[in-house]
Amino acid sequence: MSKGRRLGILGGGQLGRMLALAGHGLGVESVCLDPDPDASCGQVAAQVIGRFDDLAAAARLAARVDLVTYEFESVPAATARWLAERRPVFPSVGALAAAQDRLAEKRLLEALGIPAAAYAVVDSAADLVAAIERVGLPARLKARRLGYDGKGQARLCGRPDVAPAWAAVGAVPAILEREVPFRRELSVLAARGVDGSTVCYPLVENRHHDGVLRWSLAPAPGLTPATQEMGESIARRLLDELDYVGVLAVECFEVEDGLLVNELAPRVHNSGHWTIEAAETSQFANHLRAGLGWALGPAAVPGWAAMLNCLGTVPDRRRVQGVPGCHLHAYGKEPRPGRKLGHVTVVAADPGALAARLRSLAAVIPVPAEVWAGLVPGSLSEPTA
Ligand code: AMP
Repeated sequence: MSKGRRLGILGGGQLGRMLALAGHGLGVESVCLDPDPDASCGQVAAQVIGRFDDLAAAARLAARVDLVTYEFESVPAATARWLAERRPVFPSVGALAAAQDRLAEKRLLEALGIPAAAYAVVDSAADLVAAIERVGLPARLKARRLGYDGKGQARLCGRPDVAPAWAAVGAVPAILEREVPFRRELSVLAARGVDGSTVCYPLVENRHHDGVLRWSLAPAPGLTPATQEMGESIARRLLDELDYVGVLAVECFEVEDGLLVNELAPRVHNSGHWTIEAAETSQFANHLRAGLGWALGPAAVPGWAAMLNCLGTVPDRRRVQGVPGCHLHAYGKEPRPGRKLGHVTVVAADPGALAARLRSLAAVIPVPAEVWAGLVPGSLSEPTA
């Protein structure tokens, strides 16, 4: 292994696993840090077993790698900072800090003139009453820190919801955000290299259910060039402002006159898994290429793709493989209700073929009907000019 190509990954989940697998193909050796001795990433890469706030464990990681990235944004900032004093950490600790605090994120968006839902700062139940006056209802109360997949979040429709919502987020510093009557959720996945060059994937449509991503479609059906341009412009402004290195995911709401940014994920993202099979360069390869100072690969997508998360169970591999264009990824995780255990990517040359394959897959993957709604049938169309 030549010098400079040993990657440390904070977090041993499936994102780390797919980074390590991409690294393997690029001649990059990975070591993850995770407290779980059976971590998904640790099954395909070396692992330091330790807590994320344990600097002795971080030191053991640093001793074995040349550079460090992270696969989840709740990494303790102190650990990331400590590592950054010893090894290059990408994306930067500044980008991590901005994404760890919903208020810092909102202020960054405001400073860059990037549209987002109206919000107010909430530090107490009394603040919440005042915030409702300013923001309006319905609204979402979101803990500033450590929220993900809809956790640390409560919906408010009226004054009686104040006390339960405040308790539901754990009575911690929060923001109140106006609920956006969005058409659909789109994400922008972009990568920036150390030389400032950027690539942006076609925008992705995402459907969440109970706060968890269930499926993605790429390119987003009916995506207009104007929306793609707006998404790219938002991503570029953020990437340049943060002097960012690696993949950034920007989760957006599509509304009548464009996009509102919901939140930033300074890492590879669940809504980009389909890039493994369907894009010229996967998000995982581009994240590594960025961190290593290599040229980014093209983010072009020659066909169409859908990605379905497998929650709680992994579907029968042979039946999935019996549907043309389907690829099952299993993460090696112990089954638990609702846990992300794998995903299936479906690729096709045109939207009609993709819809047909998804219809066949519907018989194989146990996904509730309401989750399939919007995905098939007949919802796929060519981008509008
Ligand atoms: P988050 O944890 O912010 O990603 O929120 C999880 C999900 O809740 C999002 O993907 C949306 O489906 C929904 N959500 C969050 N914030 C809002 C909002 N301001 N308006 C409408 N839906 C929202």
